[in-house]
Amino acid sequence: MIIALTKGRILEETLPLFERAGIVPNENLKKSRKLLFETNINNVQFMLLRGSDVATYVEFGSADMGVVGKDLILEHGSEGFYEPLDLRIAQCRLMTAVPSDRKVVSGRVTIATKYINIAKEHFANQGKQIELIKLNGALELAPALGLADAIVDIVDTGKTLTANGLEPQNLIADISSRVIVNKASMKIKHEMVSKIIGLLNKAVKNGKSDIGM
Ligand code: AMP
Repeated sequence: MIIALTKGRILEETLPLFERAGIVPNENLKKSRKLLFETNINNVQFMLLRGSDVATYVEFGSADMGVVGKDLILEHGSEGFYEPLDLRIAQCRLMTAVPSDRKVVSGRVTIATKYINIAKEHFANQGKQIELIKLNGALELAPALGLADAIVDIVDTGKTLTANGLEPQNLIADISSRVIVNKASMKIKHEMVSKIIGLLNKAVKNGKSDIGM
């Protein structure tokens, strides 16, 4: 059983949750350069991936399960796997943002984002014609540099936007990390998959009651 975890900020919240569920890696994930780790549970391994690769690994069955942000699930498309559990961690919002001093743009709007599919669908639903520019980083700079009129990005505290002269405009989706499961693994390894989902579900609920919710 291979569980693909998203590296980076999501991992910081994922590991304590798995620990509460009783699943811990046998070595320190952050100190090692390895990508595959044994855990305290026989036959359960953690794999560390970039978020944008987790859905692909799970869809094609190289990983049985995964933890990934809903933003990347929406961008990837969710037909290739099941999404049985909301872990309620790494919560943030996917939003459009515009320069504070240039909120209204007439004519065809140019949007910079790494979420090309999400942006396409969002603006199509609104009946708006847009140009899309795919960027993988530093897209908060795109409006100031004249590359785009607005951006579509993740907003948590909003500090990154403010620091770059932008402000949030429209909410596209509320985001949190989800457990996804390969469709074949759900059948073939059903007992193990449902056991892990049950343990994680309990850990999510206990976590909430810890902070009085
Ligand atoms: P903030 O300045 O707190 O609004 O954080 C915004 C930046 O942090 C965004 O540009 C994202 O790249 C990143 N970020 C914040 N929360 C998340 C999350 N849950 N998942 C992925 N990226 C995030």
